[in-house]
Amino acid sequence: MTVDQYGRPDAPDYFMGIAMAVRRRANCLGSRVGAIIVLQNRIVSTGYNGTPHLMVNCLEGGCERCSNRDKFPAGRAYDVCICVHAEQNALLAAARFGIAVSGGTVFSTMQPCFGCCKEMLQADIHTIYYVHPWVYPEQEMQEQYAQISKMFKGGMHALILEDPDAAWAVSKRRVGLTIVAGDDTGHSPV
Ligand SMILES: [Zn+2]
Ligand SMILES: [Zn+2]
Repeated sequence: MTVDQYGRPDAPDYFMGIAMAVRRRANCLGSRVGAIIVLQNRIVSTGYNGTPHLMVNCLEGGCERCSNRDKFPAGRAYDVCICVHAEQNALLAAARFGIAVSGGTVFSTMQPCFGCCKEMLQADIHTIYYVHPWVYPEQEMQEQYAQISKMFKGGMHALILEDPDAAWAVSKRRVGLTIVAGDDTGHSPV
């Protein structure tokens, strides 16, 4: 963590620390993710991943895809996954309450998937910061992902930040993990 002479974290580390706190409420059998939207250095929305309002929670078996991951490869079949991603929930909470996000920055504990990138781009999010990286298992999909991630005006940036909760929050199915404190499981592509 980057701190100033008074021990205060710099702005990106401060905001990511809050995204990590939001993540504590995530309700998904897969990775637990938190995201916040920042506009003019102010937090305007937050989100964590889980099933939609009033539906059975993912941890209680509410999502067919998350409950049967042996049938669904990593990065695939998101169209039948009922879980709403943290970045989507942050955008949708802003929509629900009429909060503008144009020009905003998203801090997400996980590198956003292709679908979330598409939606954030269309909501005019300019900049993304994430902690845990993710790559598509298939090369051609990764190339398409690289194309969309280049479209953010302020860029997509990895933050080097220790995550004491990584072993709990990051699914062992995740590919390409490099920044995991205290994780000794080894990660093999799924
Ligand atoms: Zn889920
Ligand atoms: Zn996503």
